[in-house]
Amino acid sequence: MSARQVKIYCPKCTWMPVQSSRWQCSCGGSWNTFDTGGVCPRCSRVWEDTQCLACHAWSPHSRWYHEFIGGFEKVEVERSEPAPARSVRPGRED
Ligand SMILES: [Zn+2]
Ligand SMILES: [Zn+2]
Repeated sequence: MSARQVKIYCPKCTWMPVQSSRWQCSCGGSWNTFDTGGVCPRCSRVWEDTQCLACHAWSPHSRWYHEFIGGFEKVEVERSEPAPARSVRPGRED
């Protein structure tokens, strides 16, 4: 049983690209960027960010992939600053 599911949609407006969606590269190539994982098949340029064809917002390509496990989205843990190790101890004097 596989409860794992990956959905591709815009992280900003949840628009879902379809097979006929096309992105245009600066080289003039036009292709479905989700077929190649953001790589232009013509000039091999890697597009780290992908523009939404619906809301025109740019988002990192990986952000478009939403992984669901058992119906719940697995939220990627944003790498943030590690919490400072606070050693708060009750004031006690020796
Ligand atoms: Zn290209
Ligand atoms: Zn969008």
